[in-house]
Amino acid sequence: MKRKILTLQQIYREGAASLRAAGILDADLDAWLLLSFVTGLDKAAYYGNPGRLMEEREQELYFKWIALRSDRVPLQHLTGEQEFMGYPFFVNKHVLIPRQDTETLVEEALKRLKPGMRILDLCTGSGCILISLLKMNACKLRMDDIRGTGTDISEEALYVAWKNAERLGIQADFLQSDLFECVEGQYDMIVSNPPYIPTEVIERLQDEVRVYDPYIALDGGEDGLYFYRKIINDSVQYIKKEGVLLFEIGHDQGQAVSFLMRQAGYGKIQMKKDLAGLDRVLIGSYNGKESRKC
Ligand code: GLN
Repeated sequence: MKRKILTLQQIYREGAASLRAAGILDADLDAWLLLSFVTGLDKAAYYGNPGRLMEEREQELYFKWIALRSDRVPLQHLTGEQEFMGYPFFVNKHVLIPRQDTETLVEEALKRLKPGMRILDLCTGSGCILISLLKMNACKLRMDDIRGTGTDISEEALYVAWKNAERLGIQADFLQSDLFECVEGQYDMIVSNPPYIPTEVIERLQDEVRVYDPYIALDGGEDGLYFYRKIINDSVQYIKKEGVLLFEIGHDQGQAVSFLMRQAGYGKIQMKKDLAGLDRVLIGSYNGKESRKC
């Protein structure tokens, strides 16, 4: 059916009403963001002339996206983008959409950056942690000779990470590896936001996450701690003495993960909260001796 050509305002209102009717949480915001993405207009341009007619081609795309969003396809899978640490990251169905909570991890890592550091990012996904760390250093801190490697088990995810590094003009190495399997050498800083959701919790997550985020980026095994155990135990062979390990964690995993870290020889353990006030990041410094495998 051919639609009649509508004004920007009519289209926005119609889009928002459809999303609301479909039960989308941030219906108005999503309707606006999609409109802005399709037309390339910002708020000032929109409010300058909301009665402007929208091009037919744009209108078609907009309503196609509204229908997909109503089916719970994440906004970022439609626009192909998510902002993280102020930088635009390309995303698709092969990577976890970068979350604002993860910015806390990057901020803590930045505070601990020193010239000459070698950084390893395990489960790099879109590469958002490593790339924004390197980009912030290049633009703001300007410490010399910082180098980073990102690993992921998924080749498709690594391609996304590589594209993001290229897009933001960042040099980093990307390696296909099941955690440390193909990693060589020792690092001053290891960062990771591994999959940490207990398997049985996944089915209760909202569709946008449960259906559209990659399952392997979510599933942390029966108790959600599978990757922490494995990374912590193996890390002692890949981290330098006094090297720092930084994890994103689930809000209720702080005690369990800090216990694992202490057992493996990490000290000076600190917990940091996200903007919502929930435990989100654990940081530890390697004492240089492994006390016991857990
Ligand atoms: N490191 C990526 C991120 O934080 C991917 C994490 C993951 O796949 N679990 O977004």
